[in-house]
Amino acid sequence: MVPILDLKREYLELKSEVDAALARVLASGAFVGGAEVAALEEELAAYLGVPHVISCGSGTDALVIALRAMGLGPGDEVITTPFTFIATLEAIQHVGARPVLVDIDPRNFNLNPALLEAALTPRTRAILPVHLYGQVAPMGELLNFAQKHGLKVLEDAAQAIGARYCAPGQPPAQAGTLGDAGAFSLYPTKNLGAYGDGGFIATHHPAIAEEARLLAVHGSKERYHHVRPAGYTSRLDSLQAAILRVKLPHLETWNARRRQIAQIYNEHLKNHLQTPCEMPYALHVYHQYTVRHPERDRLAAHLKQQGIGSSVHYPLPAHLQPAYRELAPAGSLPAAEAAAREVLSLPMHPFLEEAQLEAVIRAVQSYA
Ligand SMILES: *Cc1c(COP(=O)(O)O)cnc(C)c1O
Repeated sequence: MVPILDLKREYLELKSEVDAALARVLASGAFVGGAEVAALEEELAAYLGVPHVISCGSGTDALVIALRAMGLGPGDEVITTPFTFIATLEAIQHVGARPVLVDIDPRNFNLNPALLEAALTPRTRAILPVHLYGQVAPMGELLNFAQKHGLKVLEDAAQAIGARYCAPGQPPAQAGTLGDAGAFSLYPTKNLGAYGDGGFIATHHPAIAEEARLLAVHGSKERYHHVRPAGYTSRLDSLQAAILRVKLPHLETWNARRRQIAQIYNEHLKNHLQTPCEMPYALHVYHQYTVRHPERDRLAAHLKQQGIGSSVHYPLPAHLQPAYRELAPAGSLPAAEAAAREVLSLPMHPFLEEAQLEAVIRAVQSYA
């Protein structure tokens, strides 16, 4: 069996370092926040090239808290994509704003900037692009549009830590650091994953950073003094921070291995199905290696029979989910709807072995 992901294998690679880090935290008696969390935030800020990183309880919390820290609330409309993990939409709703869905570019599955204009209303306040599967959305065009119309930009970088946006003539910039703020997830399956839940916000703006820090800890800066209503208990625990500090130095190597695996898949599969399109401006970090095939379900069944794991990200766009039908009628976002019918993610993680890779390629090639 070739699983789509192998987290046990990753732990075994790092076992002695991870075990030592856990023992250090257990002996310290500091379990939430403290030195490990502060050190991780600094290391993440240095890696991403931003002055502020605020850790929190999950990627979903990072989205919610960032939106609130950016001043989004009831009555506001936030433009986003229907083709994402549902947390993107939940976050907009949790702050009392309304998600406005704009269709995707079928080449890269990200927000299509050509369609933004038609979604504008007097209530539009922000754009929330998602860097789906680890490829940065077309940020140049999105940021230009936002600037022209006075909109804020929050990036959902949950799947894209370490991805870069390469504007012509400028040094590559980290995904999640291009807009007003970026929300990241540290969920175990992400490219940088904890062994439990976690997330963080990255931003260049001191005011957003300070507001996010207040909101994440009960609207308070000083213990038992609350300066914001309806705050959260959204913190990263010290064990997770210590584990992530072991893993962060490996992230670039792991992402490079993902890219290498993607190149091998591309070469051998491009005549059999539609392989991912890498945009000229993007350094893709392949959180998922996602192909398209008109008989997606039959292909998945064939792979399963051959012992190859695969997964569908995502079987329904947001507006076809029972809970979100009022956002847009079926048929109105055709690129997202077609993608949901055709996408299939193949095994992808840095510890995939050559023999496993070959087995996946053979199984796809043998699909009649
Ligand atoms: C994983 C993910 C989230 C949510 O992160 P959690 O840490 O699971 O809360 C949000 N958006 C996208 C696109 C994701 O993939």
